[in-house]
Amino acid sequence: MSISVFDLFSIGIGPSSSHTVGPMRASRLFAKQLQHENIGSVKVDLYGSLALTGKGHGTDKAVLLGLEGETPEGVDPERISDQLEHIKVEGRLCLFGIKDIPFNEEIHLLFHKDKQLPYHPNGMRFRAYNDAGLELVSKVYYSVGGGFIVDEGEAKRDVHLGENPPQFPLPFNTAEELLMHCQDKELSVAQVMMQNESTLRSEEDVRQGLLRIWQVMKSCMDRGCKQEGILPGGLNVKRRAASLYKKLEGQKQQQLKTPTDVMEWVSMWALAVNEENAAGGRVVTAPTNGAAGIIPSVLHYYLTFTNNPTDEGVVAYLLTAGAIGILYKLGASISAAEMGCMGEVGVACSMAAAGLTAALGGTPMQVENAAEIGMEHNLGLTCDPIMGLVQVPCIERNTMGAIKAINASLLAMQGDGSHRVSLDQVIATMRQTGIDMQTMYKETSLGGLAVNVPEC
Ligand code: SF4
Repeated sequence: MSISVFDLFSIGIGPSSSHTVGPMRASRLFAKQLQHENIGSVKVDLYGSLALTGKGHGTDKAVLLGLEGETPEGVDPERISDQLEHIKVEGRLCLFGIKDIPFNEEIHLLFHKDKQLPYHPNGMRFRAYNDAGLELVSKVYYSVGGGFIVDEGEAKRDVHLGENPPQFPLPFNTAEELLMHCQDKELSVAQVMMQNESTLRSEEDVRQGLLRIWQVMKSCMDRGCKQEGILPGGLNVKRRAASLYKKLEGQKQQQLKTPTDVMEWVSMWALAVNEENAAGGRVVTAPTNGAAGIIPSVLHYYLTFTNNPTDEGVVAYLLTAGAIGILYKLGASISAAEMGCMGEVGVACSMAAAGLTAALGGTPMQVENAAEIGMEHNLGLTCDPIMGLVQVPCIERNTMGAIKAINASLLAMQGDGSHRVSLDQVIATMRQTGIDMQTMYKETSLGGLAVNVPEC
């Protein structure tokens, strides 16, 4: 185990971690390698799920921005449309911000909807040519979920974490190993994570880094609570968070309380994040963009509706959620192209349930129990976004994931942590279910809601 919590919670842009963030990173990496070459043109081929839902998920835009040297963390969401329009109108892009080359999307960016590269459904091939049209460089990358990318060699060897991953003092690949560390060293899950993270940066830096992640999540929610109108993409989905926010604020001022208040607030926060994500705004990938609303909204619940919340609780929440995300990344996948929506909303729900339990003072066994419940009731969840947009069912589905996570935590906190199905068993079941799931339900928009709801 060598994944950092900061790999799972990275700052990026919407709407998709596997289809926007990953391809932007891959394109940038490719462009960076060409800095010292005399390049006349580049060509990009997208395969499998990237080709099938890439238009709706913004893969085309991400590739262009990455080729120009932009990063998901650094790109200014306000400038993106001007930058893309400039490339389109001029028929040229500035490779890694250095070299002006011709670029016509119809010739240089191709979507191969009926083909797939061998190692993962999200494959990309990049080629660079000299002025005479001779191929100089060719690279294949795979976007393996959550914004992580691997090259062809790594994919072939099933190396998803780079060639020289850091060595942690308390490594774990399974929940059983994680719980063993907790028991042997008398540590919480968050403390195990902190000991590992401390090998990469100081404890204080980990703490401050996680509090900053929370601030970015919060800013995203705050922006989402104010934006009105229709989401881009052509599905005509109306943004709902802002009107719900006004209603809930009004009730608060009049001191009106309803039994469903908490659920409405939590749902509204999740809507706010995922509407921002669908609009291509700044979000924290957690652990994917499609499911980015669940972890922040449950954390906001902890800070708003539970007794005596603290910054330490926020840190414990994110470290613990991170530990659970690592187990899914190692034991199954967080890619919807492999696992359907179990890999996104299911994993985020499980992570949030565990994080909340930790923040509320639950034992490691209760944390493991909450994570298990959070996934057990998402098994089989398909990915079938209409028009390939990360909007329907994605945005509402985050509200369901958030409420389910809170309930999973409540159930776990009522017990002593002992339970019938272990987290490792549920992760193995998820993995097998993902393998058995038909491709049409794995981020291809070839089945489910995507074909049964007419486009408008
Ligand atoms: S249905 Fe789920 S997995 Fe698929 S794009 Fe939407 S949020 Fe992501």
